[in-house]
Amino acid sequence: MRPATYDLVAGLPDDDLPAYVYDLPDLREHVRTIRAALPERVELLYAAKANSDPRILGTLAEHVHGFEVASGGELDHVRTLVPAAPIAFGGPGKTPGELIRALDAGVERLHIESEHELRLLSSLLGDRTVDVLLRVNLPVDVGQVALAMGGGPFGMDPVQLDRCLAVLADAPGIRLRGLHVHLASGLQARPQLALVDRILTWADTWAGDRGIDLSEVNVGGGMGVDYTHPPRVFDWPAFGAGLGRILADRPRLTLRIEPGRSVTAYCGWYVTQVLDIKFSRGHAFAVLRGGTHHLRTPAAKQHDQPFEVIPDDVWPRSWERPEARDEPVTLVGQLCTPKDVLAGRIMVERLRVGDRVAFAMAGAYAWNISHHSFLMHPHPTFHHVEEAPGTPRTPRTPRTPGAPAPAERTYAHRRS
Ligand SMILES: *Cc1c(COP(=O)(O)O)cnc(C)c1O
Repeated sequence: MRPATYDLVAGLPDDDLPAYVYDLPDLREHVRTIRAALPERVELLYAAKANSDPRILGTLAEHVHGFEVASGGELDHVRTLVPAAPIAFGGPGKTPGELIRALDAGVERLHIESEHELRLLSSLLGDRTVDVLLRVNLPVDVGQVALAMGGGPFGMDPVQLDRCLAVLADAPGIRLRGLHVHLASGLQARPQLALVDRILTWADTWAGDRGIDLSEVNVGGGMGVDYTHPPRVFDWPAFGAGLGRILADRPRLTLRIEPGRSVTAYCGWYVTQVLDIKFSRGHAFAVLRGGTHHLRTPAAKQHDQPFEVIPDDVWPRSWERPEARDEPVTLVGQLCTPKDVLAGRIMVERLRVGDRVAFAMAGAYAWNISHHSFLMHPHPTFHHVEEAPGTPRTPRTPRTPGAPAPAERTYAHRRS
């Protein structure tokens, strides 16, 4: 955690916890690094579904080509927040209403998921024009990955592409720009490059056989994030160099990528506090404010969410402070289910009631995929670490409209 983030986290009043804290300067630095590693002919889009926090989108907007959205809701959200940003609209099961909204909004690209969807689009088009990519579900083995997207309901089998070409021949307002292929989530740079290579080799042949001048291929997102080794970030320089080699043979092709998780995972922290420490059949449990109804990522991905302990030396009670020391602790939330585990049997030096716990890598598929209403606990508050040190912070989000403001308190947080 950067010092500015630590200060904000340590200075939050107890009543603001749990809290999501987004480190915007860190995000900016990260997306700059990604952009700098990519060749010019690679267009970087951010997949908004990973985290569509307005300040995050605003921070990214200056560094990405545009945004990939996967619903009418995301389309409206992104269009409102960053009106000038190009939008690619993908995802299965688009409703007629969503297609009309996309046409009215003048999206830069529509990613077509099936022949039926293309026919539907054609029927709704009127005298408008739209640029599309056909999403193809290539039968390639992606190996061991976190999420395999091929062979499922996404995109279409290659044989269906020809049927789409027939539909396009009768729909001059729909311009085919190229293909879209998003096959896997969780690949590191080398296997991801190998996959891109296979996709493009296939696409070259497909287009060549049909006399199509392929100007664009979107190879999707899914760049790996390693929750067990947070510093092991996706090797963007190696990936960018590899894409450069792949593009060198194809002088007229524009490549697009649309990562989500690997862009925003690192900037987010879910900050909470130990409410109780108990020992059940010899095993230590720390019960935290909040839980997987705020941060579903570890439950969804079946991993231990990495965390930092921020000690709070203030102990205002008259009895002995419950603690775990030099032993494995399971960090759970407040939900009445054994599945509410954020991290299981992790060695801690010391963890006491009242200490804060900041879960790292909570910037993607975290709050926005969580079941917020389960058990009706209060929602977290949201905070953003600002650009320059010394600039005023975002006003705190009030927990409940009309509720009295939390009293000012002095804290004795120390970095240990
Ligand atoms: C979810 C998704 C992405 C982003 O995936 P990440 O794993 O977050 O990088 C990109 N493209 C499509 C089509 C998706 O469905």
